[in-house]
Amino acid sequence: MKFTVLGSGAGLPSKDRNTQSFVIDCVLEYNEYILIDAGEALQHRILHTHIKPSKIKNIFITHLHGDHIFGLPGFLSSRAFQGGEGIPLKLYGPKGLAEWIETTFRISESTLNYPLEIIEVEPDMNIRLNNFDVRVIPLSHGIDSYAYIFKEDDKIGELQTDKLRELGIRPGPVYGEIKAGETFTHEGKVYQTSDFIGETIEGRKISVHGDTRLNSSTVYLDAIRDSDLLVHEATFLNNEKEKAHDYFHSEINHVLDVFKDVNYKQLLIVHISSRYTDEDIKQVSASIEGRAVIACDYFELPIPRNVK
Ligand SMILES: [Zn+2]
Ligand SMILES: [Zn+2]
Repeated sequence: MKFTVLGSGAGLPSKDRNTQSFVIDCVLEYNEYILIDAGEALQHRILHTHIKPSKIKNIFITHLHGDHIFGLPGFLSSRAFQGGEGIPLKLYGPKGLAEWIETTFRISESTLNYPLEIIEVEPDMNIRLNNFDVRVIPLSHGIDSYAYIFKEDDKIGELQTDKLRELGIRPGPVYGEIKAGETFTHEGKVYQTSDFIGETIEGRKISVHGDTRLNSSTVYLDAIRDSDLLVHEATFLNNEKEKAHDYFHSEINHVLDVFKDVNYKQLLIVHISSRYTDEDIKQVSASIEGRAVIACDYFELPIPRNVK
């Protein structure tokens, strides 16, 4: 599984940074991509990757500011001609999303050749995808804005075939039968399958935020605790913590300070303002090395599995 950044910019696009869009690439595991936000020109960004629009089956919109949704109508329309015909798509986002999409499609006389279901989310809602539980966490951005916390299902441990061989059970379909049951019998003796299964493989946790003032409440920090990947904005990179707060955004050093005790594995900083130069970004990156990474467009971050 990996996290791909298609747009790392804030507000206005620049030559190097598109406005916000991300993909959780779980094609290897589950044969699908999960798209989060749809900044303008999203579909152009996708053309430069191996991402197949037809394999995007769930889209999560963090909030309805233009820099997070203006790429959506174009993407939805083009998906129909890029192998998406007949393949259902679910679109999750704040209240107002359905009206905006329906109005845009009605006035532009656009139609889709696949089922599109729009689900407007509520604070603290839980959404079940095929292989993930998704928690919806409300943020503070002046309009409804959410973080989505994706928790992959735990996976049963591997069958310890060496132990079975020691008992004299040779490899074959019987191994599958043993793994599927609670007990198995060999030479008249009953064994507990759990004694032959390795440690549970814990599902990964990926917490992706919309634009927000930094939240330091215990309830919120507990929700994102132990994330394999935390994705958070830092529209301000220059210690202007108060200004960030006034504009309903976050400042990078404040983010690092608040997150230092939540035990994350990787922290990716996104929503980078076009007012910062490459030199500014280089300097800030050096100062946070080892604690967080500042995203750029097309950045790919592997999210390895946890083995307890
Ligand atoms: Zn934004
Ligand atoms: Zn915003």
